[in-house]
Amino acid sequence: MTPRRFAPGEPLAVLTTQPLDGALDYRAPEGGVVLGAFVEVPLGPRKVMGVVWGEAEGDWPVEKLRPVLGVLDVPPMTPGMRAFLERAAAYTLTPLVSMLRLAMRVPGPGEKPGKRRLYTLGDGEPDRVTDARTKVLALLEERRGDLFALSELADLAGVSTGVVKGLLPSGAVAEVEAPRDAPYPVLDPARPGKPLAPDQQAAADLLRDHLRTGGYGTTLLKGVTGSGKTEVYLEAVAECLSEGRQALVLLPEIALTSEFLKRVEARFGATPAEWHSGVTQAERRRCWRMVAEGQAKLVVGARSSLFLPYPRLGLIVVDEEHDTSYKQEDGVLYSARDMAVLRAAEEGARVVLASATPSLESWANVEAGKYDRLDLTSRFGERAMPVLRAIDMRAETVPAGRWISPTLRGAIARRLEAGEQSLVFLNRRGYAPVTLCRACGQQVACHQCDARMVEHRFLKRLMCHQCGETRPMPETCPSCGIEGKMAPVGPGVERMAEEVAELFPDARAAVLSSDLFGSARALKAAVEEIAAGGADIVIGTQLVAKGHNFPLLTLVGVIDADLGLQGGDLRAAERTFQLMRQVSGRAGRADRPGEALLQTYQPEHPVIRAILSGDEEGFWAAEAAERRAAGVPPYGRMAGIVISDPEASVAFDLGNALARRAQVLEEVGAEVWGPAPAPIARIRGRHRVRLLVKAPRQAPIQGALARWIGQVDVPRSTRLSVDIDPQSFL
Ligand code: ADP
Ligand code: ZN
Repeated sequence: MTPRRFAPGEPLAVLTTQPLDGALDYRAPEGGVVLGAFVEVPLGPRKVMGVVWGEAEGDWPVEKLRPVLGVLDVPPMTPGMRAFLERAAAYTLTPLVSMLRLAMRVPGPGEKPGKRRLYTLGDGEPDRVTDARTKVLALLEERRGDLFALSELADLAGVSTGVVKGLLPSGAVAEVEAPRDAPYPVLDPARPGKPLAPDQQAAADLLRDHLRTGGYGTTLLKGVTGSGKTEVYLEAVAECLSEGRQALVLLPEIALTSEFLKRVEARFGATPAEWHSGVTQAERRRCWRMVAEGQAKLVVGARSSLFLPYPRLGLIVVDEEHDTSYKQEDGVLYSARDMAVLRAAEEGARVVLASATPSLESWANVEAGKYDRLDLTSRFGERAMPVLRAIDMRAETVPAGRWISPTLRGAIARRLEAGEQSLVFLNRRGYAPVTLCRACGQQVACHQCDARMVEHRFLKRLMCHQCGETRPMPETCPSCGIEGKMAPVGPGVERMAEEVAELFPDARAAVLSSDLFGSARALKAAVEEIAAGGADIVIGTQLVAKGHNFPLLTLVGVIDADLGLQGGDLRAAERTFQLMRQVSGRAGRADRPGEALLQTYQPEHPVIRAILSGDEEGFWAAEAAERRAAGVPPYGRMAGIVISDPEASVAFDLGNALARRAQVLEEVGAEVWGPAPAPIARIRGRHRVRLLVKAPRQAPIQGALARWIGQVDVPRSTRLSVDIDPQSFL
């Protein structure tokens, strides 16, 4: 289908990335322009980028319109992409321009693809060593092989561009003339994959069939950790590539990318394009452009890679689809899993949602017949599932300030003797969640937020997990001024590491927590070292639950299995179930059987019992029944509204004004709860008030919400955010 072409001088509408209400009218430039073209247009005194979105909307005489200044040298945005952005904006109640901005997060998309100067590590020694120079060289050392733009390198190293230039004459930093946007190496889908087990083969055949038939559809690929889901969905990727279409694999965490890249290389003979926050600007530009030109056939990336300009998308895989990191929690609030389905529906592409512990949302969509389901029931190569057992903490004697029970301690000791690895799991960063004055009983709180400061002994500071603010550990109590009485309360992973070191002084221990690594690479290096046997005991947060392979690990000890069940979050049971099953699955991947021990004070709790028995279908059915009875997601719709303002009363007044005008919501069957102070009632000095809207599944909630909010004026100082299908209720 040839796109609509606007003749020179013809009026048209351009959607820019500027915060305006919608598209603006312009005149087509000399030579004309097609619908979807990326263009530069004048806006006041400035030149801004945008996309030709459609027919002119106003009825201005053509002579009054300003002309489009230039057409960028990139393929126009496809109709599928424009439709996707519009639907995504409508679904998430986000202005369309914010969606367009997600789709144009690329440096200089329209610059001519000539040569450009990039910087990388050289062979020379610096003639003089300074702190600033050391920073640059350390960064380049860590990211050997990457090419950086000058300003990017300076920014990342935290130095001026002069420092980088000063390192050129000695050859310590090398300047290279790189062609812009080199094509990616060709992936060969015809190369044979690993011979598949029968259940893998059956699943792969079905996925291949789906791709051959064409058209949209979503499949839930469920299988325990180690069952070979990756091998299976790579077959779907192969089919997609051999049909000449593009494929996208979303991963929940960028530290997992490198392992995945290796598997792609082994399977298809070359590595795919990468898109995530750890990729250099030069690489981002190349990826964006090559995707738009259809040259990048396979992209592996973070959730934002959904917004790349694929002209021929055939497949989206969402690996670990239940992972909470797929929900973007600031800026545009969207769920990458749901947006993947939306995008695929627009493009006539297939979706594969892979997980050992699917979200209740996906489970319910299977039940409702919207998704297909494929199951891999056994671990590849007859590896047994780990044995799960509870440690009843009411029957254990653990000294004050200690958390490892004698039973768990014994189990770890046996692994040490056998030369196997153990994982001590606690989903809490830092040293201690609370710092308390033993003289006055006050806890140290953040000045900016309604949150306690968490001690990070490794950084020697207290940190607020809401706003990131840190300060030194106080010697004297900030409340009563008495000295030397500050004490940590409760455990974090750093404190567990201390306990492990005391109990097992000869063991090599390693802590894996997201805040302890400056970069995804450093984390990856640590993970690889552990996988190769570089530690006897790993102490980790949920970071270790995600897809990393530790072949020598045979024991998982969960310090506090009850942790996630507190707090009364709608998804508390689901999350705990997923996390516990996921982390237990880390044990015994290679030829040694695994064991998972869960320390709990409530072994009779239905969720704990379901985790131990492994009766997944039973757990889902019970959880589904409860949610259905309560009319909450996935059986009802919800939207969270957070109003924040430096003044609590202003936020409350607006909340009350909304609550009083709820009629438009009631008309579609929705109810409003609140306003009430949010569970975290203050963040970064802003008071937060929440309203919760609950509606039946089929209610046209977005339109009603827009009309509802449109009734009130939001003061300048106030922020109002709407979160459709909220994951977090804080
Ligand atoms: P999952 O994605 O379900 O956790 P993986 O695909 O990562 O499982 O497979 C787990 C391990 O088993 C990997 O090391 C993988 O290479 C291996 N594996 C899976 N299927 C096969 C197969 N058919 N042949 C050989 N090795 C396989
Ligand atoms: Zn704070």
